[in-house]
Amino acid sequence: MDCLLRVTNLTKYFDFNEPPIVDKVSFTVEQEEIFAILGPSGCGKTTTLRLLAGFERSDEGSIQLKGQTLECPYNHINPEKRGIGFVFQDYALFPHLTVLENVMFGLQKLSRGERNHRALEILELIGMKSFKDRKPQELSGGQQQRVALARALAPRPEIILMDEPFSNLDAVLRESTRNEVRKILKASKMSAVLVTHDQEEALSVADRIGVMENGRIVQIGTPEDVYYRPKTKFVANFLGRTNLFNAQASGLEAQSTIGSIMLDRPARGNVIISIRPEHLTLEQTTPANCGGICGTVLTREFKGHDITYNVKLKDCACLVHTDNRMPFAVGDNVVVRPLEPAVVLEDETPLQ
Ligand code: ATP
Repeated sequence: MDCLLRVTNLTKYFDFNEPPIVDKVSFTVEQEEIFAILGPSGCGKTTTLRLLAGFERSDEGSIQLKGQTLECPYNHINPEKRGIGFVFQDYALFPHLTVLENVMFGLQKLSRGERNHRALEILELIGMKSFKDRKPQELSGGQQQRVALARALAPRPEIILMDEPFSNLDAVLRESTRNEVRKILKASKMSAVLVTHDQEEALSVADRIGVMENGRIVQIGTPEDVYYRPKTKFVANFLGRTNLFNAQASGLEAQSTIGSIMLDRPARGNVIISIRPEHLTLEQTTPANCGGICGTVLTREFKGHDITYNVKLKDCACLVHTDNRMPFAVGDNVVVRPLEPAVVLEDETPLQ
């Protein structure tokens, strides 16, 4: 079966004397899939979403939904004809309309009775039916977010686009709302493209993630793929904390700044490797392990359920993330032991 949404070499310039803001972006979204575009501020995420919605015209490339071309150099289907729903960062609910009227707003083509029926059905799905007569300002941020999602879902679009949908919520509400939104999207068998700069949000909500850097999608994969098998320094760093080292590879082993280490794939010569702090552990120095990677604890960050140590090694330092049963103190002599092979990155320039 062909994919639902196919984006091919999508490119957008705001100024032809400058590099493109969206640069040959290609990805696909399957039926019922949640795809996140994750990247730092200003990398071109929102512009990509606006191109998908039809709010902006592209300069090159194409967008196809269910095999129909929505956008290419000689064709531009208007936003309202694309069969796409949009959830804005600020929810964009009408303050003078009730929750029910806000949801009914997107259903202009139906009769009043049908609009009412569909709006109530969708409010039921999102657990907001009992709030139908409230005005948006009488709701919490998380509830407003769910109403905005209901309004986008009501006309049964092929796909929903969401621009930083949780960024206006406080940390606690953000976590519960994003779980709720994922549940609603899955329950309604809806496909979605979510734009976010928050790696935790992308990792927890999306089925697949496209990581964006300077207008380009540099890696696409499942949350586990992009987190555990980053292809570049940028992806490794953007997806969480990591340790990067120069290494001399020889097959599945390498000599690195932290000593001899196994690799996730065979390589030869100078490479850069990444190893997540939770893939290293600490041991007390004993006569049996003193030939290992020896270091001294520089700092200790206690976070309740786990601890992050910064360990000074011979020529560098590394972060080690352990559970709270590893109570080392600052100044302790320790041995660092890798629990998993290090990931060989594709970057060629050695670390300074
Ligand atoms: P953020 O997370 O901060 O919203 P983003 O990754 O969504 O960032 P975009 O909003 O797509 O990034 O913007 C990418 C770049 O394009 C920015 O440098 C921005 O200033 C520029 N830009 C966006 N819209 C326009 C426009 N209409 N005209 C000119 N430049 C624009």
